[in-house]
This record gives sequence, structure tokens and C-alpha cells, in this order.
Amino acid sequence: MQFRDLKAQYNVLKEEIDQGIADVINNSNYINGKQVSELETVLAEYVGVKHCITCANGTDALSLALMACGIGPGDAVFVPDFTFFASGEVVSCAGATPIFVDVCEDTFNISAESLENAIKCIIKEGNLIPKAIIAVDLFGQPADYMRIRSIADKYHLFILEDGAQGFGGEINGRRACSFGDIATTSFFPAKPLGCYGDGGAIFTSNDTIADYLRSICVHGKGTSKYDNIRLGRNSRLDTLQAAILLPKFKAFCNYELNAVNQVAIMYTELLKDIVKTPIVPEGFYSSWAQYCILLPNGNARMQLQLELKEKGIPTMVYYPNPMHKQRAFYNKYKKYDGLSVASGLCTRVLALPMHPYIKEIEIENVVLGIKNSICFK
Ligand SMILES: *Cc1c(COP(=O)(O)O)cnc(C)c1O
Repeated sequence: MQFRDLKAQYNVLKEEIDQGIADVINNSNYINGKQVSELETVLAEYVGVKHCITCANGTDALSLALMACGIGPGDAVFVPDFTFFASGEVVSCAGATPIFVDVCEDTFNISAESLENAIKCIIKEGNLIPKAIIAVDLFGQPADYMRIRSIADKYHLFILEDGAQGFGGEINGRRACSFGDIATTSFFPAKPLGCYGDGGAIFTSNDTIADYLRSICVHGKGTSKYDNIRLGRNSRLDTLQAAILLPKFKAFCNYELNAVNQVAIMYTELLKDIVKTPIVPEGFYSSWAQYCILLPNGNARMQLQLELKEKGIPTMVYYPNPMHKQRAFYNKYKKYDGLSVASGLCTRVLALPMHPYIKEIEIENVVLGIKNSICFK
């Protein structure tokens, strides 16, 4: 059994993907080929924003978004304590200060209470200027943007939506990557919409920000690539990756997103009486980048993971460490919260095999493995 079976997907889409790759090679338009702008058009339309700017990966997408907000030394950026390292790393790399905020146990996403409390502390101290919130759509579920937006408006902060795992999610019919002033996603192979290498995209409806982003992706270009009006980066999506993403995006919309939601319903139905299963609040829709259960404690998780491994069932721990305990950050930044929920999740969380091509029998096998574990005896 595969944790995320990318080969099964390729077998289904092989003809279209192979043709797409062959076309790029035949045209030798490896950089900025027409497939790149085609992809940007369909993704912007799907998400429901004016602009999609593709780039080299999801981490670059976040870094470029921070540059577009003018964030640098002396600025405070609020980041959930339970997320992938990149969400906080980009803040430090920009010279700004990440302020780690606790999350909600039910949704794994940023806690509005902890967020507002941290903002108030920073204002009271007066050393840093609160500038932005990086809200992460963790495991495929959008953060609570109704509450985050009202806090952002109250304190005049940008919202950067880290939708690396959230592409395809929704709140009341509105799609993920449309909630932030700027939103980003990643096409890393294992993400909900992945390519065959690294890739990323930035979404915004602000024309000025979009122009600026298109410039800094290509060495701060002005009217041409050799007219450089500012410092930028080299961060582009390869034409090959765009050609691979076009048929994959069609499958994602047509049936994959629905398929992972069916898998999640089945897992939850079969597991809800044994372990804490993920909660999707009313009006929310997840793209299930991960399906994570919570065990009673760290020992139970270790035991279960071992037993499942012996049965050939792969599981993963996302994430073993909260951001504030990552060695790169440890003791560098002040804490304004006990961050106890995030710390607890790190010891108890376990991600189960989840992808659109998983078979019912495999789901039943995973469930049986969990039910038979001695940690529930
Ligand atoms: C994967 C991920 C990123 C980084 O994306 P890359 O394409 O790997 O650079 C950023 N944030 C979150 C939450 C992620 O899961």
C-alpha cells in the first residue's frame, strides 16, 4: 500500500501527460511556453481571483508574497505554530520576526484567540510593527477566514494565505487561495495538485501587486527581461511542469477532489468511535492533503505506527515538532502563548494513507489495523 500513490494517477492520465511532455520537447519552449500562461488562466478562474502568477515552488511563492507586502526587519508576522517549516522560515529569511500562534485542536488551523492575543502583546511592547498574518490551510482545510479577516482589518494587517496544502478547499462555495490579500500554493508532487518536481503559484486580485510579482519573479524586469528596474529573483514554473499540471488539474476538478472526500467520509465513519477523527466545520470543504487522526498520547501513536508498519501500512507524522521548538528558531523568538495545543498535536497526530486512487479494500485494511492495535485494548 502506498501512502500517496502517484503512479496510480499517472497510469490513468498517462496518454495526456506523455503527449503534453512530448509537445514541450518538440517545441523546445522550456521557459515561458504557452502552457504556463494557459495554466495561470485556468487556475485564476478556478480559484476566483484576477491573477495567478506561477513560480518555482511554494516556498518562493511565500517569499515573493512577503516582498510584495514590503515586509522586512522590524516587522512582526504571525504564523501558526503547527505547520510545515517553510511558513515560518520565509519570515526569518525576509529579516522579519515570526510570532508563533497556537492552533485549534479540532481543525489544526490558527486560533483566532491566540492570534489576537499575540497581536495585542506586540503592540503593547512596541518593539515590532505587526504587518501580516500567514494563515495556513493545513491538511487541505481552509483556515477560519471570517474571523481572521475581522482581526486583520481591526489591526490593519495583510493576510497571506499559505494554501500549499489547501488548493481545492472551500468555505461556503468560495475557493481556497482567494481568501488572502495574496495567496500561495505549491505543486510539490504530494500536494493536492502536484506536478513532477517543484512548482508553485501566487494568487491575488490586486493589479499592482500582480505586476510587481511578475517583475520580481524574473529579476525585477521592467519592459523586458534586460530592463531591470528592481532586484528580484529567478523563480519560474517550467513549461514541462505546466504541461503536466494541465491534464492533472482537469482530473483534480472532474473527480479526484470528490474521490478524496469520499475516502475521508469512509475513514471517519469507520474510525470515529475509536480515535479522534478530523473535523470539517459547517460550510467548510477540504481537499484532504492529509487525513490525520489523533491518538491519546505519544506512546499510543508510536505503538500504532509500528504495528501498522508491520502490516505494510504506511503512516506519517505531520508534524513532529511545533515551529517554536524547531532548532533553527529555538530561543530566537519570544513566545506570547504557551502554544500547548500545537505541542500536544505534535505528539498525538498520525496521517493515514490518503489519495484519490486508494481502494476501498485498502481503507478497510487500514481501519482493521487500527481497530486491532493493542493500544486500544
Ligand atoms: C509544502 C508546503 C510549503 C512549501 O512548498 P514547496 O513547494 O515545497 O516549497 C509551504 N507551506 C506549507 C504549509 C506546505 O505544506
